[in-house]
Amino acid sequence: MDKAPGTPPLVIALDGPAASGKGTLARLISEHYGFAHLDTGTLYRGVAWLVLNEGGDPADPEIAAAAARDYAIDKIAGADIRTKEVGAAASVVAANTEVRAALLDFQRRFAMKPPKGARGAVLDGRDIGTVVCPDATVKFFVTASPEVRARRRWLELEASRPDLKESEIYQDLLERDARDAARDDAPMAAAPDAELLDTTHLSIDAAFAAARRVIDGVFRRCG
Ligand code: C5P
Repeated sequence: MDKAPGTPPLVIALDGPAASGKGTLARLISEHYGFAHLDTGTLYRGVAWLVLNEGGDPADPEIAAAAARDYAIDKIAGADIRTKEVGAAASVVAANTEVRAALLDFQRRFAMKPPKGARGAVLDGRDIGTVVCPDATVKFFVTASPEVRARRRWLELEASRPDLKESEIYQDLLERDARDAARDDAPMAAAPDAELLDTTHLSIDAAFAAARRVIDGVFRRCG
């Protein structure tokens, strides 16, 4: 879908905890509507990876802030940022206000001017509907029970990390959720106007169909 000159982009925000399904939904939504997609977790993971790669402590505020200021996508080319360790370190650097401030502009520019002239953007993360894009056209808060999320993550990681136990992943998710929800700056939260989507008992197809019904309804109303 190309954007007519002067039309503000349509923005779809998806927030929620790890392994809730928001990333897969964001990708399917962006493909379906021809919108650009930004997985904002990759920014925090990228910063965390840079810190860990230099042997730094993600909890050191100066080191994490410097890594966020210097962050560029080519610096993490080829890096495996999807590991459990990088995820845990990402939620530590994400509690740092300077890190969040350094990454905010990039996210807002992406939403305001989606790459390749796309008519809209889909952003997924923890604070998209509340802080990054409070005026998003459609907002979702995607959840699932911690047991189901741990199982999904375990299935994803099983081939590359057969040593990981499901119970370890479960514990890790709970710790990450608690850190993400308790931080002072931009905690993970549902925006008051977000549509709640609980994927605990939904297949990805059913969750995608439910999301499309909401989006199509809003798009019809906005013309
Ligand atoms: O979504 P993902 O698991 O890749 O995110 C990794 C971490 O990055 C999260 O646990 C969270 O601490 C942080 N994050 C954030 N705000 C976002 C996206 C991710 O704080 N918008």
